Amino acid sequence: MSRLRGWRHWLLLGALLVASAAAWVAPGPHGTVLAGIMLAVAWVWIGRFVMGFDRDQRLFQETVVQLNETVERWASGDLQARVYLDQEDPLDPLAYGLNRVAEVLTERTHDLEQDKQRLEAILTSMANGIIILTHGLTITLSNAAALKLFRIDEPHVVGKHLLEVIRDVAIDDAVHKVTREGGAQTVEWSPPDYESTVVEVTVAALTQPTGGLGAVLVARDVSAQRQVDRMRQDFVANVSHELQTPLTIIRGFTETLLDNPDPVMAERFIQLIHDEADRMSRLVDDLLALSRMEHHSLPVALQPVDVPVLIDSIVSKMTPRAASAGLTITNRVPPGLPLMAGDADLLAEVFLNLVSNAVQYTPEGGAITISGTVDEQAGLVGVCVTDTGIGIPSADQSRIFERFYRVDKARSRASGGTGLGLAIVKHIIELHTGRIEVKSTVGRGSEFLVWVPEYAGEPLV
Ligand code: ADP
Repeated sequence: MSRLRGWRHWLLLGALLVASAAAWVAPGPHGTVLAGIMLAVAWVWIGRFVMGFDRDQRLFQETVVQLNETVERWASGDLQARVYLDQEDPLDPLAYGLNRVAEVLTERTHDLEQDKQRLEAILTSMANGIIILTHGLTITLSNAAALKLFRIDEPHVVGKHLLEVIRDVAIDDAVHKVTREGGAQTVEWSPPDYESTVVEVTVAALTQPTGGLGAVLVARDVSAQRQVDRMRQDFVANVSHELQTPLTIIRGFTETLLDNPDPVMAERFIQLIHDEADRMSRLVDDLLALSRMEHHSLPVALQPVDVPVLIDSIVSKMTPRAASAGLTITNRVPPGLPLMAGDADLLAEVFLNLVSNAVQYTPEGGAITISGTVDEQAGLVGVCVTDTGIGIPSADQSRIFERFYRVDKARSRASGGTGLGLAIVKHIIELHTGRIEVKSTVGRGSEFLVWVPEYAGEPLV
């Protein structure tokens, strides 16, 4: 290539030709010989020049082919390809520059790939569902949580229109509003057959790279939160109701007494007022016990608890009440039953509640039996309270541990029940990492089996 650019060569060739012409016209044989020599040199020079030119052209063509091939490999995604030229080659700086561009591109592509992987990992691990839409409401991105929350079976939703995937008027309206006016909207969505599942969907405007507004949908399952809210509302309503009944009775009796202070009536009424005040006091005590347990402010000191001794004291306490109701209580807890790991006072409350319920819900002539058992494999000690009472319908069995849930409200109230006993029992057992099982047949009786970990003898916290 250098020959092509070498103006000095052309100058020298010109000088030779001029010199040979001068020698030709010069008189004498020397001039002719000199001219001949110069012409021969010039021809040799021209020959060399032409051959050199050919070789340069071949080299140039090879370089162009190599450049072409490399650029094509880059275009097809192979950024590892490089151009290798001779250092003398005038196109070598260009090749160096192109190789450098390929290196920078490789680095950038690697960085982008890493960013993409990071983003994918975040989106996949997110509990919230994400769907990104274009202005025309075509899905450009969605994560696994979104598919799960919206119960979408089709895994490939990218490229589809939102309405093909989620057919919901409220979401559709929100998305249209946001892509038209910007801002954000929040709506709630429930799957058609699962009304208890509530998904909160926040739709926010997203500026598109091509202009216009797209949208991003962020969905989260708020079912548990809604259920807690509902339970809290129910609880407040229940407490108010439970307190209102005795208060109405007390107010009624006191007003009657104020209007008619008859001493005979007064004695009976005062007794009734006292009973109602008692009921309120029991209710408040139970509520406080529940509240303490729910806030875990109740330390459970896991000490060795001798179950036969504990059950003995409960049977002694309950026998007079059972006897006056025409019931028998039999203690079949074997004396050698392993120790339970727990708080003796709290466990006493559990068994007192269960035996008291058995007495309350067993008609005259019935029998209550308390027995003990061990699950050696699981390391649990069990106590079973069985009665021959009215029984619990199977539909109610899973609900009797809820606060204020009663199968027969009138019967429970008439016998002074607060509807909180089994809720307290369940909480106490959970604090002991135990469990309670119930089996019951209407008209034949119920069986409450409590399992609590066995005291292993090692220091317990
Ligand atoms: P209550 O103060 O009403 O007894 P509990 O929480 O102790 O409240 O019990 C909830 C409900 O479970 C009771 O109202 C009753 O309907 C039912 N129940 C509990 N124990 C028994 C039992 N041994 N036999 C029949 N029903 C029972």
